[in-house]
Amino acid sequence: MNDLDVTMVFPEPWCMPRLFTAEIAAFYESYYTNKGVKILKGTVAVGFDADANGDVTAVKLKDGSVLDADIVVVGVGGRPLTNLFKGQVAEEKGGIKTDAFFETSVPGVYAVGDVATFPMKIYNDERRVEHVDHSRKSAEQAVKAIKGKEAGSAVEEYDYLPYFYSRSFDLSWQFYGDNVGDAILFGDADPGSAKPKFGSYWVKDGKCVGAFLEGGSPEENAAIAKLARAQPPAASPDELKAAGLQFASKI
Ligand SMILES: Cc1cc2nc3c(=O)[nH]c(=O)nc-3n(C[C@H](O)[C@H](O)[C@H](O)COP(=O)(O)OP(=O)(O)OC[C@H]3O[C@@H](n4cnc5c(N)ncnc54)[C@H](O)[C@@H]3O)c2cc1C
Repeated sequence: MNDLDVTMVFPEPWCMPRLFTAEIAAFYESYYTNKGVKILKGTVAVGFDADANGDVTAVKLKDGSVLDADIVVVGVGGRPLTNLFKGQVAEEKGGIKTDAFFETSVPGVYAVGDVATFPMKIYNDERRVEHVDHSRKSAEQAVKAIKGKEAGSAVEEYDYLPYFYSRSFDLSWQFYGDNVGDAILFGDADPGSAKPKFGSYWVKDGKCVGAFLEGGSPEENAAIAKLARAQPPAASPDELKAAGLQFASKI
């Protein structure tokens, strides 16, 4: 690919397991493999070799193997940096605990974005979200709350719908809602297709609570967002599979 010999290494059994099911991951892994990318699963990088100039020459893996390399891209996740506030504000789930207005346990002190663990109203749960969309919206909510307090006017509670997206090569996917319960894949998930287009619904307690779509138009992505917000009663797995996007479009 681009005259580069690329190897992707990750410890899990398939890529992005926090969101992708094995079936969804199989599509993207095949797509990458078809582009010449090698994938190594079940191990992690534990060190690097460098030449006399300090330039990297190889990546050492935990399984003992060594990959020659002259460029390394490290994507190993991140954790909120809350040390500065330890013992001063309440924490929850690795973040700074806030209310629905992003005010912390210390009145007048607000936390927004990645670092905030806030009430996720739609799921009656407390969560952190690492996404630029939520960073902007949570900051907006905090400002509204501060101004509302000053003006003595009421502000509605934050009511965020989880949303993630990504693009790679000529692919583009969006996900809305919660990826819990049973996942039902629909559409054409053949990585060899000229225009693959597929999705997945997540069904929990008889309700459709999450939806993923690869290759959706803006209208179709809006339809899966609407579905995730509405959490309609789900049809049977076979019916959902057969209806595909039509199920979301009718909401
Ligand atoms: C590699 C990568 C790719 C991503 N891709 C996407 C994407 O495609 N789409 C998407 O929606 N989101 C993406 N994200 C997530 C997105 O970047 C974050 O959700 C967003 O930036 C969070 O905004 P924030 O303001 O909460 O925190 P940040 O943007 O992390 O800002 C926090 C700031 O605080 C500063 N800081 C920390 N400690 C101190 C201190 N003691 N004093 C002063 N300043 C301090 C930091 O330097 C930083 O500038 C990506 C993140 C990463 C790392």
